[in-house]
Amino acid sequence: MGVGSVLIVGGGIAGLTAAAALGRTGVRCEVVDLTGGAEGSGLGVQNRGIDALHAIGALDEVVAIGAAYDQAPLRFFDAAGDLVSAPPVPPRPDGKPSYLIVYRPRLAEILRRCAERAGATVRIGVSIDRLDQHADRVDVGFTDGTRGSYDLVVGADGLRSTVRRMVFGDEVRPLSTGTVSLRWLPVGAPRGEAGFYYGQDTEMVVVPMHDDMTYVSVQHPDDSLLSDAEGRALLRKKFEQFSSPYLTALARGLTDDQSVLVRRYEWLMVDGPWHRGRVVLIGDAAHATTAHLGSGGVMALEDAVVLAEEIASGEPLEVLLDRFHSRRFPRCHTVVETSVRLSGMQRDGASADEMGAVRWPALQLLSRPY
Ligand SMILES: Cc1cc2nc3c(=O)[nH]c(=O)nc-3n(C[C@H](O)[C@H](O)[C@H](O)COP(=O)(O)OP(=O)(O)OC[C@H]3O[C@@H](n4cnc5c(N)ncnc54)[C@H](O)[C@@H]3O)c2cc1C
Repeated sequence: MGVGSVLIVGGGIAGLTAAAALGRTGVRCEVVDLTGGAEGSGLGVQNRGIDALHAIGALDEVVAIGAAYDQAPLRFFDAAGDLVSAPPVPPRPDGKPSYLIVYRPRLAEILRRCAERAGATVRIGVSIDRLDQHADRVDVGFTDGTRGSYDLVVGADGLRSTVRRMVFGDEVRPLSTGTVSLRWLPVGAPRGEAGFYYGQDTEMVVVPMHDDMTYVSVQHPDDSLLSDAEGRALLRKKFEQFSSPYLTALARGLTDDQSVLVRRYEWLMVDGPWHRGRVVLIGDAAHATTAHLGSGGVMALEDAVVLAEEIASGEPLEVLLDRFHSRRFPRCHTVVETSVRLSGMQRDGASADEMGAVRWPALQLLSRPY
């Protein structure tokens, strides 16, 4: 018997994309999400993440509201703002953008619309508190007192997945890289060249976005959580390493009313199978990492689309979930391992060239079809 009904726990990038992809193949999907809110920052989508957005019919809408680049902004500048290197990144031959950056809450709205257009229902403020597996179904209890029965449950509930804990126990837990990410999204800042700027011990990613927003991101080698004011003060110190006129002009906008998002960089990889019986993990619930390849969200998009492809194959569940895992594990492992490695190299003061020698082959590998 095929998979006709799916519960997706977590309505983030992975969960909503899975609902859209599965719904398009005629599978009845329900999504529950505890909060329903995406964090107020930018998400870069490159490589095959673009194809995954296309597969669920979201690409045109994301291109319409996001900032689309014909070439991924893999350009490396020194502290003075002079170009040091720029690997040749040819534009895609199919006319699609090579790189998109989009405000996460806007992306979440588009993904939700795609999921609902494909027939999925989305309930916000609800999670699961009970999960009983049987040979032919999974019975689920929800935190609002309701219940349901499904052919398959998808755990798309992120780094601290409740589904993973319920089904896999505590054997896999997030590990800290000992670093934090600082992200700032000024509006109306001066425009300049997108790329990676190298200061004394800082790699600063700067990407002009849509709606006059600019994405600014750095890593700091200490994972103590900082208040908004401390995050701002730290980012100001990072800017002091740069004499680039563009970055100096940007820094002038980092006034006390600006919000700097501080987030611990943690990582996680479920090494064995991502399913147990009729429950499968996708996205950060199965593999999470830092932003050094800008590909964690891309893997979440790809996971969702590949899972729907495998379910549409009509193979027995155990077979298709094994195939899903063997298609996904190598790509996701590359992303997790390379990102954590790059995070460590950056903490230890690696140069743009040293980082590029690790980053570039991984990105090329990820440009192959999923
Ligand atoms: C600083 C930083 C920058 C990044 N930048 C990029 C980037 O530019 N490009 C890129 O591709 N990747 C990037 N990533 C990685 C990317 O953010 C993640 O890989 C991606 O968000 C994973 O999507 P997800 O849907 O699996 O998980 P999440 O986005 O975490 O979504 C999980 C969802 O589950 C819900 N949830 C949680 N618990 C429960 C529960 N018990 N019940 C119901 N719902 C629940 C949450 O509310 C949430 O909506 C970055 C990561 C970090 C840390």
